[in-house]
Amino acid sequence: MISSVRVIGSGRVGSAVSARLEERGVRPGDDGAEVVLLCVPDGAIADVAGRIGPGPWVAHVSGATPLGALAPHERRFSMHPLQTFAEAGGAEQLDGAWAAVTGESAAALATGFELAELLGLRPFELDDEHRALYHAGAAIASNYLVTLQRAATRLVEEAGAPREALEPLMRRTVENGFELTGAVARGDWETVDRHVAAIRSRTPELEAPYRVLADATVTLANGAGTKRRPTKLVRTVRELREELGRRGTGSVGLVPTMGAFHEGHLSLFRAARSECDLVVVSLFVNPSQFGANEDLSRYPRDESRDVRLAEDEGVDLLFAPSPEEMYPAGYETWVDVEELGRILEGAVRPGHFRGVATVCLKLFNLVRPDRAYFGQKDAQQVAVLKQMLRDLNVDLDLHVLPTVRDPDGLAISSRNAYLSPEERERALALPRALAARDRERAAAALEGMDVDYVEVANFDPPVLAGAVRIGNTRLIDNVPLEGEPT
Ligand code: AMP
Repeated sequence: MISSVRVIGSGRVGSAVSARLEERGVRPGDDGAEVVLLCVPDGAIADVAGRIGPGPWVAHVSGATPLGALAPHERRFSMHPLQTFAEAGGAEQLDGAWAAVTGESAAALATGFELAELLGLRPFELDDEHRALYHAGAAIASNYLVTLQRAATRLVEEAGAPREALEPLMRRTVENGFELTGAVARGDWETVDRHVAAIRSRTPELEAPYRVLADATVTLANGAGTKRRPTKLVRTVRELREELGRRGTGSVGLVPTMGAFHEGHLSLFRAARSECDLVVVSLFVNPSQFGANEDLSRYPRDESRDVRLAEDEGVDLLFAPSPEEMYPAGYETWVDVEELGRILEGAVRPGHFRGVATVCLKLFNLVRPDRAYFGQKDAQQVAVLKQMLRDLNVDLDLHVLPTVRDPDGLAISSRNAYLSPEERERALALPRALAARDRERAAAALEGMDVDYVEVANFDPPVLAGAVRIGNTRLIDNVPLEGEPT
């Protein structure tokens, strides 16, 4: 039984604790106390602890401060009442609250638990190394709830409604066990958009917090039950700009594609989704990157399947313009990356990279992304685009993701759909040859096939790249020559 506790500090917590100890008949004990309880500001704990002589248990009531702050004492623990204390309140503020007890020995924990119970608290054990997490949770539950109340008050007052009207609403939300209702729960994103538009016009400083909360509500508050905002399909530059304007203050990620989505595309969508607030995917079979005798007209297209897949990956906007939208009558400006665009693929497909660089720069200008995502599968495309970004001072982070392969090693490509089963079997020769990571051995392995090139390209990182024709299908692949083989 703890019979004497010396409380140092008479702030909000110290006063409530002292009052409760007095109620329970626990002596202050002064210099001979069994427990010295530091109810001082976090920054003062180490200093005050250092001035206490050896002998008693020394403890603090801070949530965030590690036990180490109580050095040199070894008989030590912490007991953090998980409660917010008002200046005017007394011991009753402790009633029903929980308390996180941290100690390094069974005796320390037992003493911490006993003290907590003596104070009318409900103790539980907390690891010293999990303090910051625990305390962050507490900060959200208490401090940031205040922030939310202030934000809500600003908005209702701006609307001319009484701020007091929010109180019963907030209380009932707690009493209802935090059951989610409202626009996000219903998947009513039009209403959410109207909120954003109104906030932007009257209290723009609250737009970013509102958006973060709406998104967090989808992922956190209602879990799998909440309907995500559906992918918005836009076809014109005007619609795209409107949508971007409506949605955007956060970071924007762009994934340029030609559609017929497969796991390679999806890996880019996922990376963008995890790193950006707004994910834009473009779906455009760009005529200017196809040569006259190439497969433009038969390139696989399945827009409704692509929309579904984009939606499953949480893509916000799918920009699927017509060729006329991208290249209206009278179009005459082209981006040509002269050297890099003429080797390897560029030598076999003259004009290809001029089309790629042009369409990508147009997309970068339209979407203004912070980050754009590309596959290592098209290593030369990445090299050409990096060169263009550098040469034209385009401020953009280009993220390159590893080539996604089928289990047998074939790089996944929309063009694989052209292959018959027998051709697909023959196509495996390409990844197998490149896996040697040696130009001569790869060339020898591809002997007898219709090879456009097998070359080491001095990109960043350098790659061994190859292109072969199997029947009417042309396949490209590469392996990076630095880092671990994938
Ligand atoms: P595409 O639709 O073929 O123009 O490809 C769009 C983007 O997906 C490009 O950045 C490609 O490099 C990338 N990509 C295509 N296939 C793969 C793959 N198998 N693994 C990773 N990325 C890929």
